Amino acid sequence: MPAQTRLFLCLKDNFGVLLHDPESGATAAIDAPEAAPIEAALKATGWRLSDILVTHHHADHTGGIAELKQRHRCRVVAPHGEAARIPLVDATVRENDEVQVGSLRGRVLETPGHTAGHISYVFPADKLAFVGDTLFSIGCGRVIEGNAEMMWNSLLKLRALPDDTQFYCGHEYTDANIRFAKTIEPNNKALAARAQEVAKLLADGKPTIPATIGEEKAANPFLRADDSELAKSLGLGGAPAWKVFAEIRERKNRF
Ligand SMILES: [Zn+2]
Repeated sequence: MPAQTRLFLCLKDNFGVLLHDPESGATAAIDAPEAAPIEAALKATGWRLSDILVTHHHADHTGGIAELKQRHRCRVVAPHGEAARIPLVDATVRENDEVQVGSLRGRVLETPGHTAGHISYVFPADKLAFVGDTLFSIGCGRVIEGNAEMMWNSLLKLRALPDDTQFYCGHEYTDANIRFAKTIEPNNKALAARAQEVAKLLADGKPTIPATIGEEKAANPFLRADDSELAKSLGLGGAPAWKVFAEIRERKNRF
């Protein structure tokens, strides 16, 4: 049976998401920004929390773990490299490890750069990816603990997923990301189309994700740093893609 998801906002602009296996009843929270909205989503769906899959150690992704674990006795899965900075971890995972949520089978991709041990969870049969603060719709996470080359390589891993993979990210930043992206590629038609779609979603009070990898490849400048025209337009023709990525990231930091 296909996986089900439920998406909701936490804190100021974090996304919370539940991944549910209808066959076994198992349900994973992807990160735990805060307990109350996750409890509300569990109540609304009638789902039982069995797991918390943590992408990285930041407090706005882990602040709800202790309360949820106490109430639900759920398993906490965390990146190997960050387990010491995440509360109540039961299992640590590395690149290519399998993570099961009931009968759903996920795979770990190490996607460092935002933090040094950041991971993403991919569920290939359901074409779902949970990418934390590595990839945002029309944006990407700040490079805090890693460097630009590391982050670019992490984004390449996510870009290599099938085009129809739907991805869930950690924050609702799409609108601001689009305003910035237009300064990098003002004539990108896929970006213009995405901007229209996002304006409508936000006007209707809806979240702007999930988005698909295929859409992002066409519209997200951070996934397009190896496009020769884009590089030329930034005065970086012939430069390695990660340097073009670094320049776009720098410009976004100042935007
Ligand atoms: Zn973060």
